[in-house]
Amino acid sequence: ATVPQIFAETVARFGPRDAAIFPESGVRYTYYDLDREVDALASGLLALGIMPGDRVGIWSPNRPEWLITQFATARIGAVLVTINPAYRLSEVEYALNKVGCKALITAESFKSSDYIGMIRELAPELADCRAGALASEKLPHLHIVIRMGDEKTPGMLSFKDVGRLGGAAQQMRLNAITASLDPDDPINIQFTSGTTGAPKGATLTHYNIVNNARFTVATMGFSEADRLCIPVPLYHCFGMVLGTLGCVSAGAAMVFPGAGFEPGATLAAVGAEQCTALYGVPTMFTAMLDRPDFDTFDTSSLRTGIMAGAPCPIEVMRRVVRDMNMAQVTIGYGMTETSPISFQSGVDDALEDRVATVGRVHPHVEVKIVDGEGRTVPVGEQGELCTRGYSVMQGYWADDGQTHAAIDRAGWMHTGDLATLDKRGYCRIVGRVKDMIIRGGENIYPREIEEFLHRHPDVSEVQVFGVPDDTYGEEVCAWIVPQAGATLTEAAVLAYCKGQIAHYKVPRFIRFKEALPMTVTGKAQKFAMRDAMIEELK
Ligand code: ATP
Ligand code: MG
Repeated sequence: ATVPQIFAETVARFGPRDAAIFPESGVRYTYYDLDREVDALASGLLALGIMPGDRVGIWSPNRPEWLITQFATARIGAVLVTINPAYRLSEVEYALNKVGCKALITAESFKSSDYIGMIRELAPELADCRAGALASEKLPHLHIVIRMGDEKTPGMLSFKDVGRLGGAAQQMRLNAITASLDPDDPINIQFTSGTTGAPKGATLTHYNIVNNARFTVATMGFSEADRLCIPVPLYHCFGMVLGTLGCVSAGAAMVFPGAGFEPGATLAAVGAEQCTALYGVPTMFTAMLDRPDFDTFDTSSLRTGIMAGAPCPIEVMRRVVRDMNMAQVTIGYGMTETSPISFQSGVDDALEDRVATVGRVHPHVEVKIVDGEGRTVPVGEQGELCTRGYSVMQGYWADDGQTHAAIDRAGWMHTGDLATLDKRGYCRIVGRVKDMIIRGGENIYPREIEEFLHRHPDVSEVQVFGVPDDTYGEEVCAWIVPQAGATLTEAAVLAYCKGQIAHYKVPRFIRFKEALPMTVTGKAQKFAMRDAMIEELK
């Protein structure tokens, strides 16, 4: 099926039920309301000359227009390019040009991000253009800039105005286009998190994401009675595939606690809207649980959800189950390039399995673990995880080199993650191939040291990575964020390691930090830490 097909089915079945709730702005849509908004924008985009296959960028934090845009571009067969709301000038310029966006839909501003100001800076021609006829030197493909909200800005169209452009004729064209879409058409270019370097634009089809969303929410038993709280960013597959598309495919309600993640607002939204499910990366759950007033929030309605994107410390998992009532929380493992989920734990899996492993392989996904020469390793041994099946992306947009490096001739996606598979089929993620530290010929897995250091009561966050070393090839370095109020010293950390972990794993360099460089999706950017350390050690 295509995305518009499953959207239409849900509107037909669950039209009067809640579809999306935005407590921050007071917006509440039933599926009928959402359908009306989506239709209006889709007709407006058609009237503006956006055609099937055209790339349309969206650059904004979570808000109602984001959701409407996702399903409106799907209806006209355009390819939605989701741009990280944390991007700055050079990054957004790169993304828009890389994929040739014809139109961009953007928020006005959010916190320190002045989106309109940045676009004006990139395209100073905008001020003198007729709206919809941008000819910019730096952004040669971009002709249309649409500003969310109702305000007028020279050279730009307002979101509301675009929604008023379509008429009866446009509606007929729209229906014909929607009906002619093929499940194998590309629908999104989604950028990876940028954990290991520059983000890559993965091209995904209707077929890829519709099926992944369905299988993922089916694991959690989603129905129209479920209400999912979505604090994760929509530009990323976690929000837009597993979140919005997952809910649409089940007829469930979506609750967006805010434009950016705030632990208090998220907990408040869960209680006020009686959410049954909650998504997040482990650091989001930690931030919620660590609030001093955590006990004053009502989480009794929660049942299930997904924790994904990064390894989850066991203590956090225990508290999520016990203190947030998420007895059926699942762990998901996936990557943007595989639409995204390929492993997920079951709602009744033993707690240890939901912490130490990422569960078992999803339906219709093949999996193997290979050594450096591409040979499948024996059960239980460690190697690079590879997956194959319906969920593997078409490729990286306009980047055959990177595509062929990631997907081999036989269709296997090489994930870049080190993993083991046990006899029962449970998968354990050991770390990233790129992050493995080789010190004096010894393979060191940072995650193991991170888990050990994390158990120290004064350690709040920790990341371990390698830095080049003349003698050993690489040396182990640890960046630690101490618990609030705790004083932690290098000597104390070394004393803690002594006799507990092998000498070569004991960090040679330890640095205390107030915060670690993170992606918007809550992942630690080791490459940024490594670069900073190399600079410091020069
Ligand atoms: P980039 O590819 O740009 O470096 P990224 O790989 O972090 O960034 P994503 O596609 O958002 O971009 O994330 C996928 C990766 O996240 C996986 O390859 C894996 O390393 C990690 N990951 C996802 N889920 C889990 C999980 N449950 N446990 C551990 N790691 C996970
Ligand atoms: Mg990746």
